[in-house]
Amino acid sequence: MTVKPMTVLAITGARVLTAGRAARPPETILVQGGVIAAVGADVEIPGSARRIDAAGGSVTPGLIDAHCHAYGVSLSLDELEKWPLSYVALKGAGRLGAALRRGFTTVRDVGGGDPGLAKAIREGVIPAPRYLWTGPALSQTGGHGDGRAPLSDDPDYCGCATNVVDGVEAVRKRVRQLLRQGAHAIKLLTSGGVVSPTDPLEAPQYSAEEIAAACQEADRRGAYVTAHAYSPDAIVHSMRNGVRCVEHGNLLDAPTAAEMAERGVALVPTLVTYDAMDRRGSEVGLSEAGRAKNTAVLDAGKTAIRLARAAGVRIGFGTDLMGDLEDEQLQGLRLQCEVEGIERAVESATAANAAILGLAGRIGLIAPGAAADLLVFQGDLRQNPELLWQGDRAVIQAGAIL
Ligand SMILES: [Zn+2]
Repeated sequence: MTVKPMTVLAITGARVLTAGRAARPPETILVQGGVIAAVGADVEIPGSARRIDAAGGSVTPGLIDAHCHAYGVSLSLDELEKWPLSYVALKGAGRLGAALRRGFTTVRDVGGGDPGLAKAIREGVIPAPRYLWTGPALSQTGGHGDGRAPLSDDPDYCGCATNVVDGVEAVRKRVRQLLRQGAHAIKLLTSGGVVSPTDPLEAPQYSAEEIAAACQEADRRGAYVTAHAYSPDAIVHSMRNGVRCVEHGNLLDAPTAAEMAERGVALVPTLVTYDAMDRRGSEVGLSEAGRAKNTAVLDAGKTAIRLARAAGVRIGFGTDLMGDLEDEQLQGLRLQCEVEGIERAVESATAANAAILGLAGRIGLIAPGAAADLLVFQGDLRQNPELLWQGDRAVIQAGAIL
């Protein structure tokens, strides 16, 4: 049940935790028409304002998950693609509603999602985070998005989460189609992955010409390409051909991190998916091959974040949880907090992700002019970071209290 945006909302007495703002005594956040109007200790509160007393508590911007899959309702690509899309979409709607209740007021769906789902969300048909989608992730034959069984000789593979598209002209056309339908960005699979059945994890995928074609098309539309890539070879191959964001990046090394910083390429780590698959992989049906590949990237993910930070790479936050693992979404914040502390973890999941999405200053920030996507916690997050992943929270989306 959502309470409609009040004309004026005042959150009082809260410690504000947002990027670029040092710890201060409790402040007031004033919201008007779904947007933050003022933040400070001496903000004048109009008599008509609805007040939320957050004394002793903390307020952060609404969280952003830059790597999720609404349609990732199974860990098995093969199973996923055999189900009718109506079933997958309804399950996906449930996943998005749960993400919103956890405090994710914006998500970027980097594989799956479609214009119909986006339209339903815009029209308020289902409660959901603000929804930016790439459509199916594009994969070469035998790549991470090729869900066919190893001995299958089906000529084509075109699913709801991934499409197999080979060759410069075919890639160009598919990118143009997705952008025509309203895709926020394009997702390319440029290295092997954990859940795909036949590809080595480290191997770069797609030719330079195919990647460049996708990036040229996206750039001309004012969009961008983000790439699933683990190894330095795959990351270098992607960014030298125009990719602007790297997903996962677990096997990153220092020279590659330096080149990412120089080119302004961002990193979206997804630590929780490996952590969750390590703990619950067999329970949720991860294949033997998948478990072996997962072990290879599990520990490297935290090192990648340290290397990226040292080099000056913008670091976002993503979760990439498939199937029943979706309930681990907040645990990603715990893991990123273990590497970088609470301030950085919140910044990655708010302002840094907003910048990656091209929405810097408009979401992910507690400052005048930003959307009033806010989370109110009971307690001091700087003293008790675990409240971020364990504590109760009130969720406010564009000034509307959930
Ligand atoms: Zn993913």
